[in-house]
Amino acid sequence: MLTGVHILLSYTCLYQCDHCFLHCSPGSQGTFTLAQLTRLLDQAAELTTVRRISIEGGEPFLFYPTMLRGIEYAHKLGFEVEVISNGYWAQDSEDAKVWLEPLVQAGLTILNVSDDEFHHGDATPSPAKAALQAAQELQMQNHAFRIDPPCVTEASAQGREKGAPIVGGDVRFRGRAVDKLTGGLPLTDWQSFGQCPDEDFAAPGRVHIDALGFVHLCQGICIGNVWERPLTEIMAAYVPEEHPICGPLLRGGPAALAQEHGLDREHGLDREHGFAQGYVDACHLCYLTRKALRASFPEQLAPPQTYGE
Ligand code: SF4
Repeated sequence: MLTGVHILLSYTCLYQCDHCFLHCSPGSQGTFTLAQLTRLLDQAAELTTVRRISIEGGEPFLFYPTMLRGIEYAHKLGFEVEVISNGYWAQDSEDAKVWLEPLVQAGLTILNVSDDEFHHGDATPSPAKAALQAAQELQMQNHAFRIDPPCVTEASAQGREKGAPIVGGDVRFRGRAVDKLTGGLPLTDWQSFGQCPDEDFAAPGRVHIDALGFVHLCQGICIGNVWERPLTEIMAAYVPEEHPICGPLLRGGPAALAQEHGLDREHGLDREHGFAQGYVDACHLCYLTRKALRASFPEQLAPPQTYGE
């Protein structure tokens, strides 16, 4: 049952982080207008199962007036509202409160802030900490999101030889992380990745929706477009097993996705698409497989900016 809608308010961000799933950057296009935002919130309300709206990006505070009105409207419709930000706007906690107070009055109750070196380098104290302190003082729920850089460790892991090197840290190797962060890391045979580690394709509990209207189950895997038909119809029409991308992922993870679409020739190699001998994690294989399939499934594997195009 769908209980959460994550609104990608914009693909634009003031940063261009190496680990970003969505290839966000200052030049990325695709931002909600206020009219689109209210239209989407009305669609979410029609579902009657959605409880929480999460506003994220890109960086939503770059579009503060739209975000503010969106929070107000979502609150009026009865949703719990959270925002996910990198906290760049927090010079110190007193200034941060000035940014947050109107949002709290509009109905925002949860602030999540990315607080790691990908976003803020070695700035001390990080703007994220000031933002979180302000949220604390305003008695909002607040959480720090931290992604640790990849590191190589020796450990036993399910299905791997005990003592074999594996990759630690929290980075999922999809989006820009594939180009920027996979170099030098230990690789594992494609057939090992028989399960998606994160998403429930059988019964999704949340979706991400961008300004172009795409409804994503994982970033870049889409089941419809809300500017073409309403979210109620998209969710009702979703049959996981019949979806050309979600179906294989459900049956056997990224390995099945590659295999069912014929990309498993020669030990997972498809040299035309630059496939490697092995992959750092399941998302690495999944992302490269999807990128190779983009031309065949332009509606399901979209929009282009999530594939760095
Ligand atoms: S395996 Fe694929 S679908 Fe699953 S979380 Fe990773 S990128 Fe997303």
